[in-house]
Amino acid sequence: MSHVALKPPRAAEKMIGVLDLQGDVLEHLDHIERIGIPARPVKQAGDFDNLAGLILPGGESTCLARLLRIFSLDKIIIRKFHEGMKLWGTCAGAILLAKSIVGEAPHLGLIDIEVERNSFGSQLDSFASEVSIPKLSAAPIPMTFIRAPKILGVGEGVDVLLRMGDFIAAAESPDVLVTAFHPELTPSLAFHRYFARKCGLQPGRDKTDMDPPWDRTSWMRLARITL
Ligand code: GLN
Repeated sequence: MSHVALKPPRAAEKMIGVLDLQGDVLEHLDHIERIGIPARPVKQAGDFDNLAGLILPGGESTCLARLLRIFSLDKIIIRKFHEGMKLWGTCAGAILLAKSIVGEAPHLGLIDIEVERNSFGSQLDSFASEVSIPKLSAAPIPMTFIRAPKILGVGEGVDVLLRMGDFIAAAESPDVLVTAFHPELTPSLAFHRYFARKCGLQPGRDKTDMDPPWDRTSWMRLARITL
């Protein structure tokens, strides 16, 4: 996608990147921009400069993993992670970050969780829900699961942020956040704020966890798309 017309950051300003290979790139950039943090699509080595954190969006993990390898971005992500860059994987992004995937070899393997892909069934078994996570927000947090994985278990050093019945929907280590669902497809900014703070950045506009004028197509202004 060649799309984004975000504000140019000031020199050396720390920012959050969104891996721009496939999936919800614009929607994540939109949410990061809404909390007042500079954001940038990331698709080549030079895009990693000044990143405090990187979001790996949802999409299709086999496809994303192949593109990561083809463009050697996997090696750069692992190196930058060891240099201090924080990571957040949503859905397929969480699968890429998992140390263990049922029936498959892991990809980046940067957080000690076990995931099972497509664990709820087909695309038709996608669903929306709402939860309360007091650590993140006083307001209820809407969630969208799209052919999502289940996080089956977490290893040492990984905390469960959200358990739902027989599976874990969100977890974190000190340096990596994973969500099986898609906060960028909802009006809630709570997870984006949480990740920004994890990156050592201070999100603005703290009065509300929801952005009232949000609508499903709000990200279109980033792509300069008009209906
Ligand atoms: N089903 C996809 C996979 O296993 C993930 C779907 C998503 O990211 N919404 O890679």
